Amino acid sequence: MPVIAVIGAQWGDEGKGKVVDLLAQKARVVVRFSGGDNAGHTVVNPYGEFRLHLIPSGIFSSQVVCIIGNGVVINPAVLIDEIDQLNQRGVDTSRLFISDRANLVMPYHILLDGLEEESRAGKALGTTRRGIGPAFADKVARLGIRTGDLLDKEVLMERLRLILDGKNIILTKIYGVSPLSLDEVYSQYCQYGERLAPYIRETTIMLEEALNREELVLLEGAQGALLDPDFGTYPYTTSSSPLVGGGCVGAGLGPTRISRILGVFKAYCTRVGSGPMPTELKDETGDLIRERAHEYGTTTGRPRRCGWFDAVAARFSTRINGFTGAVITRLDILDALPRLKVCVGYELDGKTINYFPSSVAALDKCQPIYEELPGWQAPTNHIRDYEQLPVEARQYIARLEELTSCPVNLICVGPEREQTIHKMPIL
Ligand code: GDP
Repeated sequence: MPVIAVIGAQWGDEGKGKVVDLLAQKARVVVRFSGGDNAGHTVVNPYGEFRLHLIPSGIFSSQVVCIIGNGVVINPAVLIDEIDQLNQRGVDTSRLFISDRANLVMPYHILLDGLEEESRAGKALGTTRRGIGPAFADKVARLGIRTGDLLDKEVLMERLRLILDGKNIILTKIYGVSPLSLDEVYSQYCQYGERLAPYIRETTIMLEEALNREELVLLEGAQGALLDPDFGTYPYTTSSSPLVGGGCVGAGLGPTRISRILGVFKAYCTRVGSGPMPTELKDETGDLIRERAHEYGTTTGRPRRCGWFDAVAARFSTRINGFTGAVITRLDILDALPRLKVCVGYELDGKTINYFPSSVAALDKCQPIYEELPGWQAPTNHIRDYEQLPVEARQYIARLEELTSCPVNLICVGPEREQTIHKMPIL
């Protein structure tokens, strides 16, 4: 059995959680591989509606082993709370494991995230202020503390003493705020360590064993390709790679193991936070999509910016991920619209371009060139068979396939598992 990677293809919030929850019914392992609790998946299934921030969306399928991979940064307080909340609602978390190589979000990361955002004033990046960016920065600077360090109190104290000294200098001398107490942070993280110890493992061995048994493994992406630190709208990006390449590194498996790469696209575009979004609609159509789709962030509650499907960005995303297929979510949101637009190119400084520029300054100047398609103005959320979709909806899907050169496997017409049209088999 293969590995299927489920990757956000736009700016995040595409509905990856629903897709993973759906596919997990046939899987044995689901690995979350990037981001932190700044990501949020909403999953609606027979157990109810859940908002997950760190725990993989496969947790609802009783045969699935869920792994939080080394590529994720973990705030232990948030993870423990998420485990408790799932348990209270009858969801078993005994099959959850955490990589001993995952870095931890520490109290100074959260403090510094807020202080750094405030110091940027009008140029704030729009981070979720959960300490994720500073935690990834420390990982690369070799100043991180990892889940494995929680298992040895001496190692934890040694690392913390070394690192906290430097952080306290920044907190007091640069930002003029109170220092953090070594003893308090240490004893708090010792408690977290005791609670999380049963979950912490060398998870790459578990993955290899599953693959050797030919079991289906899912890689669960967080955020989206256009937020990648290399390829996204830098610096308005996230701090770890949401691309399939990030999946290999963040889960601990080789690229040759991955046989299907699914790009999850909304049928339109949204973006939360700052940064360019060429097809953003600042008019009543944008408001209509936001209200109809309830486009407010799972983690922050912030209103999402809404706009038309951007095929230039989608082609770019397909190229840098090598998608073998696409999932189009939220087709039902477009049911009400009489006409639809798809961005097929950009106009930049009087010239037509069909690539996604690397610079934010250029992207800000890009004017979308639209193609118009007829809407279908009929409900689709009850439809399960591709042929039953209104002809205009099929035309819309076919045009997205053409423009992105990516065949569509699944179409979602509602948040529930069964509100899915299986257009073409994934495997
Ligand atoms: P993720 O982080 O990519 O999983 O996305 P979010 O959870 O932030 O946002 C996706 C939202 O869309 C969730 O509330 C899902 O329940 C919902 N959703 C997923 N697919 C569909 C769909 O086809 N139609 C509708 N109406 N909602 C959907």
